[in-house]
Amino acid sequence: MRDWLSHRVAATPDRQALIHAATGDSWTFRELDALVDETAGQLAALGVEAGDHLGVVLTPGIDYVRLIHAATRLGAVLVPLSDRLTADEIGRNVELADVTTLVCGESTESTAVEATTDVPVVSVDDPRWEGVINLSSIAPKRVEPVGWSLSETMLLLFTSGTTGTPKAVRLTMGNLLANAVAGAFRVGVSRDDRWLVTLSLHHMGGIGPILRGPLYGTTVVLREGFDAGGAADDIGKYDVTGVSLVPTMLTRMLDSRGTLSDSLRVVLLGGAPAPDELIERCRNYSVPVHPTYGMTETASQVATATPREAFDDVGTVGRPLYFTDLRVVDEDGTPVEPGTPGELVVSGPTVSPGYYRNPEATADAFSDAGLRTGDIGYRDDDGLLYVLNRKDDRIITGGENVDPGEVAAVLRDHPDVDDATVLGVPDAEWGERVAALVVPADPENPPDDEDLDAFCRERLAGFKCPRLVATADELSRTVSGTVDREAVRERLVAAKP
Ligand code: ATP
Ligand code: MG
Repeated sequence: MRDWLSHRVAATPDRQALIHAATGDSWTFRELDALVDETAGQLAALGVEAGDHLGVVLTPGIDYVRLIHAATRLGAVLVPLSDRLTADEIGRNVELADVTTLVCGESTESTAVEATTDVPVVSVDDPRWEGVINLSSIAPKRVEPVGWSLSETMLLLFTSGTTGTPKAVRLTMGNLLANAVAGAFRVGVSRDDRWLVTLSLHHMGGIGPILRGPLYGTTVVLREGFDAGGAADDIGKYDVTGVSLVPTMLTRMLDSRGTLSDSLRVVLLGGAPAPDELIERCRNYSVPVHPTYGMTETASQVATATPREAFDDVGTVGRPLYFTDLRVVDEDGTPVEPGTPGELVVSGPTVSPGYYRNPEATADAFSDAGLRTGDIGYRDDDGLLYVLNRKDDRIITGGENVDPGEVAAVLRDHPDVDDATVLGVPDAEWGERVAALVVPADPENPPDDEDLDAFCRERLAGFKCPRLVATADELSRTVSGTVDREAVRERLVAAKP
């Protein structure tokens, strides 16, 4: 199988492939195909070949879309990296994922340059730094689309990392194809669909619709980022029929615009639990919400509810997609009765073969029995799935996942801090807020809030930095000596301004 765009261009060359929401500029599949051919040719001229790992740290736009399809055309593995990470974090991911060429743009060039000295850095814009290659100045080589087998890795996507070390998930051509087919069966896809992309492209929710567009023949309406009013307006302006959102985004869109255009047929909601009030608002405003449950390791959705299911049984994420087997098991791996919570175990063709270069984590989560998700949930008598919580303590703020251990480690590095614990406190807007309880090295001289914030911002992406910091003489401990997270949580909630 070749890249999906080269199959598509033979079928419907003159249909719209992409609309850039900010400008209204648009490209047909034929036009996009020509751009992708040029990009693939330029990358080939730079020596990028099948099997290479192409890192991308870039804001969403036509250049990002060209790179996504060009990588597949060349047989290269795409490694999308968040443009919100610091240079250190990017550098670590470049190393972890064995990135062989790193592509950036104007706004990410200095981060990319600082992140790595080991691999060539290429810019899609005019470079400002010495040594950075200007992609548009390269004369393209002629390339033939590379043939893929289903088991080959097409994409490496990073998780947030529960242990502080991000894991790169291998997603194969087969995983992505199975996800595309199963998703289309569940929500229905027509060639007239227009999908708004406003989620980050380093998560399946953002890159998924771009990859699948040429497979389905649908149009992608691409935003450069998210703002609630703008995203809501683009849905009406471009007659958008589908959109993937995290709950915080949908709440803010409804807050700012009341309801959404009735062109919408599907709102896929995932990444974090959807508050009941949000589902109730969708029912009142007839927003066609499909709550989903999924993860990077399954190329996104495992289960998706229809609006009817969501409205009748508020809190459910529906039923598993076609091809997906979902079991709820106890500590021993034995399936439990309906209504009983247990760990969710998933198997089927959407499940990744494992993490890249991380045999320990792969062995922990993946086996012939399926993927142990680390999530706790139950199925009711009708088979509808409810997700309760995670086995670990990870924080989800505004749809972004934060590892408390990573943040606490940074706080402990501060000279005025002796010890720290980080957790999420409930927040109406963000779902959870990152909060920290800090033990000062000198109780008479607690660290200055602004100084601590600046310290974190230098070392962590902004969304990971604590929004609420309280100090204590010591951290409450359980009898076994571990930090009593519930006691700390109560304290932080009480300290909430
Ligand atoms: P890591 O595995 O490194 O901790 P992550 O699991 O936070 O990273 P993702 O793959 O983006 O990274 O997130 C998937 C997780 O998000 C799921 O395992 C689950 O915990 C949570 N999640 C997704 N959808 C829902 C939902 N509808 N309700 C509750 N939690 C959800
Ligand atoms: Mg996970």
